Amino acid sequence: MDGFFVFIPLLKISMQIFKFGGASVKDADSVKNVSSILKNNAKGHTVVVISAMGKMTNKLEELVNAYFHKGPNCLVLLEEIKQFHRGIAAGLFGVKDHPVYNDIENVCVELLWAIEEEPSFSYNHHYDQIVAQGEILSTKIVSAYLSDQGLKSYWLDVRDIIQTDNTYREGKVDYALSETLVKARLLPLFKEYSLVITQGFIGATSENYTTTLGREGSDYTAALLAYFTDAGRVVIWKDVPGVLNADPKYFKNTKKLDDLTYHDAIELTYFGASVIHPKTIKPLQNKNIPLEVRSFLKPNEPGTIIKGSGTRSEVTSYIFKDQQILLSIMPKDFSFIAEDNLSDIFNLFSKYNVHIHMMQNSAISFSVCTDDDPQKIEPLVEELGNDFKVLYNEGVQLMTIRNYNPDIVAKLSEDKMILIEQRSRHTLQMVMKETKN
Ligand code: ASP
Ligand code: MG
Repeated sequence: MDGFFVFIPLLKISMQIFKFGGASVKDADSVKNVSSILKNNAKGHTVVVISAMGKMTNKLEELVNAYFHKGPNCLVLLEEIKQFHRGIAAGLFGVKDHPVYNDIENVCVELLWAIEEEPSFSYNHHYDQIVAQGEILSTKIVSAYLSDQGLKSYWLDVRDIIQTDNTYREGKVDYALSETLVKARLLPLFKEYSLVITQGFIGATSENYTTTLGREGSDYTAALLAYFTDAGRVVIWKDVPGVLNADPKYFKNTKKLDDLTYHDAIELTYFGASVIHPKTIKPLQNKNIPLEVRSFLKPNEPGTIIKGSGTRSEVTSYIFKDQQILLSIMPKDFSFIAEDNLSDIFNLFSKYNVHIHMMQNSAISFSVCTDDDPQKIEPLVEELGNDFKVLYNEGVQLMTIRNYNPDIVAKLSEDKMILIEQRSRHTLQMVMKETKN
């Protein structure tokens, strides 16, 4: 025998991904709360994915619109954005000299340059370059505060690891390339740091332009990072106690669902339950990584756990989607919709990135309920207009009830005009309009 090897099993330190949305970093006190959650819960290796602060993404959208459509108030909006972040910094660091004020200034100078030039790309392209800065500002501020609190962390630009195609505002993630980049650039950081702070929602193209992954996409970023790092869990910290059976905006007595299967979770979010982004579940399901939805206001409560095993939830759940539009599409030549036209119609929906929430067809008509986003709907309707007559009904609401029963349906459709309806064994969907009395 010419020797033997002793294998010492390497202790695998588990990885977890935490995601904090805009509401969890909306002011200085909220950022302090995030820091205390991290102090108590960031054991092992933690990647912290953070969104833009408060409603800053909406504000940046206003800035993009003002810039692109040559509105008068670009500079006013930019100043508001700057002062909002300076205000939070002042609440965290005082008005003393702190390098974070330079960080804020630098990002705002970049924004200023962006809006000083004439638009030379598409609206969506400019949108992404501008709106993404909300996440940059927010992570700079949070990471500076954590350092001041003695929590050593590394600030990582997520655009160095999440690569997408150039579908602006809806970047399609290149899994293979992003995984390689995560392994090369993110994992080695854990030799020195146990905490990495990065942005949700944004990525980069191969030409180094910024892309975004769709509104509320930070949950998806967290799930992707979990997938690429084989994390042990993802925790999404929210201002609700977990996944509820209805939006508390519409219902007084909501119930928290303690656990859910991936299947239930993807159905609920697909139909519009806004608690997590619908794209979040797939990467987690693919690697069987559990997702916890927990309250940042009550960080010791267990929240909701979403995982692979378990039984189908029987709780009745209600999902409302407002600001919907119902399109009815009819071939001008009276040809059958399904056999002759559907693939062309679907191609156009995909070309303009219009997501179908519900659809129904008859012999010569196809109805679709979708978000009423004029930026997408107007060009879609224009191109459809070549071959089809398109009618639309604006200001409609899509209601989805999982585990419905007749009493509930009757009650919820009172005083409403039902435009279309669809039932399967567990799910009922209705597109409705308020009837004016
Ligand atoms: N800040 C982005 C948004 O508000 C992404 C996110 O919050 O997940 O849409
Ligand atoms: Mg948000």
